Amino acid sequence: MSQARGYAVKSATSRFEPFSFPRREPGERDVQIEIAYCGICHSDIHQARNEWKNSTYPMVPGHEIVGRVSKVGSKVSKFKAGDIAGVGCMVDSCRRCPNCKQNLEQHCLLHASLTYNGTEQDGKTPTYGGYCSHIVVDEAFALKVSPKLPLERAAPLLCAGITTYSPLKRWKIGPGARVGVMGLGGLGHMAVKNAAAMGAEVTVLSRSKSKQADAKRLGAADFALTTEAATAKKLAGRLDLIVDTVSADHDVNGALGFLKTGGTLVLVGAPPSPLSLSAFSLIGGRKNLSGSVIGGIAETQEMLDFCADKGVLCDVEVTSIRDLERAYERTLKGDVRYRFVIDLKTLA
Ligand code: NAP
Ligand code: ZN
Ligand code: ZN
Repeated sequence: MSQARGYAVKSATSRFEPFSFPRREPGERDVQIEIAYCGICHSDIHQARNEWKNSTYPMVPGHEIVGRVSKVGSKVSKFKAGDIAGVGCMVDSCRRCPNCKQNLEQHCLLHASLTYNGTEQDGKTPTYGGYCSHIVVDEAFALKVSPKLPLERAAPLLCAGITTYSPLKRWKIGPGARVGVMGLGGLGHMAVKNAAAMGAEVTVLSRSKSKQADAKRLGAADFALTTEAATAKKLAGRLDLIVDTVSADHDVNGALGFLKTGGTLVLVGAPPSPLSLSAFSLIGGRKNLSGSVIGGIAETQEMLDFCADKGVLCDVEVTSIRDLERAYERTLKGDVRYRFVIDLKTLA
């Protein structure tokens, strides 16, 4: 056992405070990673505050982790000490169900071990995330990150990157496709960059006029305010796919109107309360409403390699672990361009 030093919340309403907890010694197939940076995903906020009503405490959030491998088990083949490695939203899964066998560990039919607010495969050992000094994980769930990448800008690829890459691949986005990205936050800005890198024509759908110039800079061809009545007319029947990253209640019916006949709106945002849907938004134009959650391990590696190849990186604001409350408040206000990333050196 080693002691990890991190920050935890003890309840839905408590503030972050320093927290020490044991990590296992690396087993034969485990790697230990000294965490350099960890992104702050809106899912961390939903869960720290028990907005999805499934939180367990104490909670050490964080699933956008990059760092340097410090120890490897005797049977580890993918990593050696000194390598850069990443960990995303899962640290294990059953590995034998039909979904795991098809590289869809995120849809494990038995038990995917989430990186925090979950349990290891024994069903009882709590998992703790990346707001801390180090993590121990089976090499099968650790990702290779190019040492050429600035690590703070690569960290959010482990959730925001894969969550947006996966639906773009599933809906075969490439040159000629028109993609809408709704909500320009951590996920949204990665959706814009990934879709543009795949050759699509991207339209940002946002309620924030202040993000218009950024949308273009990030690679979007067009920008529309969802709060403006003229948008419905301008975008009617225009888009093949909308990646909806909005974290709170919002109007999906209006957005479905922007789709071509047979187009799809894929929800990746996870608002705590149910969305309202009119049947008429789907039946005329036989539209599709779908969802997507992160991606499998093989697809996450594919995304990391794609991003390294295309130079797709996150726009980040590096923060101290002592300022978590402030980072959460600013994320909730949409006041971050576009992802807070914790520098774990600030733990010292
Ligand atoms: P974020 O950085 O806070 O971005 C969310 C964006 O949604 C905001 O920037 C804002 O964009 C828009 N928005 C926020 N509140 C809104 C409101 N009341 N009405 C309309 N638009 C609003 O969050 P994130 O980290 O990208 O995460 C987004 C959502 O995805 C969260 O619910 C998170 O839990 C979920 N998530 C899902 C997965 C998955 O696998 N499916 C993975 C990670 C995260 P504008 O200012 O441009 O309107
Ligand atoms: Zn996340
Ligand atoms: Zn499984």
